[in-house]
Amino acid sequence: MRTYKDLSPSLRTIMTPGPVEVDPRVLRAMSYPILGQFDPEFTELMNETMEMLRDVFQTNNQWAFPIDGTSRSGIEAVLVSIIEPGDKVLVPIYGRFGNLLVEIAERCGAEVAIIEQEWGAVFDPIDIITAIEREKPTIVAMVHGETSTGCIQKFDGIGAACREVDALLVVDAVATIGGVPVKTDEWLLDAVIGGTQKCLSVPSGMSPITYNDRIEAKVMRRKTIERGLREKGAPISSVKAVASNYFDLGMLQDYWSPKRLNHHTEATTMLYALREGLRIVLQEGLEERFSRHKRHEAALVAGLQAMGLTLYGDPLCKLPVVTCIRIPSGVDGEDVRSMLLNSFGIEIASSFGPLKGQIWRIGTMGFSCNQKNVLHVLGALEATLHWYGVDVSVGKALQAALAVYAHKREE
Ligand SMILES: *Cc1c(COP(=O)(O)O)cnc(C)c1O
Repeated sequence: MRTYKDLSPSLRTIMTPGPVEVDPRVLRAMSYPILGQFDPEFTELMNETMEMLRDVFQTNNQWAFPIDGTSRSGIEAVLVSIIEPGDKVLVPIYGRFGNLLVEIAERCGAEVAIIEQEWGAVFDPIDIITAIEREKPTIVAMVHGETSTGCIQKFDGIGAACREVDALLVVDAVATIGGVPVKTDEWLLDAVIGGTQKCLSVPSGMSPITYNDRIEAKVMRRKTIERGLREKGAPISSVKAVASNYFDLGMLQDYWSPKRLNHHTEATTMLYALREGLRIVLQEGLEERFSRHKRHEAALVAGLQAMGLTLYGDPLCKLPVVTCIRIPSGVDGEDVRSMLLNSFGIEIASSFGPLKGQIWRIGTMGFSCNQKNVLHVLGALEATLHWYGVDVSVGKALQAALAVYAHKREE
């Protein structure tokens, strides 16, 4: 029989836009014994997780719970549950994840209208509002922080414009939740989808979502139609029921409600992990956590610029938790990434689509977002570029970053 080596993953410094390093407290939480899904001890942990999610999403919504699956499972659950075939969905696209929203909405049978912004920039909210007034969509689906381009979209007036035409506003905040303010209620967001493996620093495998009664009303209406038609003996194909059992929010919320109607088997170990991750976020404090992300971003950017590197994207809409760097000419971006990984144990990200081979992306998210990692990646990148003969200012980057840290401490 073939034997397999002991599992011994390397200790990496992960500076990508996810997955990122996980706090040892979360890893420890994942090693506790399993509880049954209806054990009162476990349902209490589920309830506490819902409470903490409301705080992190900055909402009073009743519904805030994780979907089991990666972040796109949260996106699919919301979209498949509210899009009825033929509904018009408006998607403003300014990067790769806007296209994911289009792809999912189309599979749900939506009539999709898009507006596009050049990658590396975001929309003036006025342009989105104009499109909402013109298209009068049933749903507007958009991305808050685009990890593909390192840009963050402002929501000024967009929520109100949606209410004006009675559209539901669905926001992918996978990259931003826990690292950048996401004000669900204040911005009038109807459904928000978060991710675990980015700024929450929990392994990939769950997607926390929240939604309000406007979303719930649509979900409930579909449930009633479905039940009514079934009772009349109508074939299921004539019913605009939710086309997924696993992702049906109506069934999921019955499971997360005191009714505890059986649906799936909750992922015990991931729930422990998410609960601990959220506890860490709230113990740090949201405001402190957001300013920590800004502080390390400032140090990283100062270091990169002191080295002589150029950032990609409009600085006015830079996403604090992802920094995109133009790959200097004369060097292969993948050679640099390989050396960082193999000689320094550091992972940074490449890019896709039109940006493939053009930029690197460095994440400063959650547990990975700390002074040691920022200084480590700057030193390693400088040495690697110098090794490959790229003309960088040697000796400047770390000094610039250290100066940011010294200054921030004095503040
Ligand atoms: C990472 C990411 C996703 C997809 O997450 P998965 O966990 O890979 O499914 C979606 N949207 C945004 C903005 C992301 O950054």
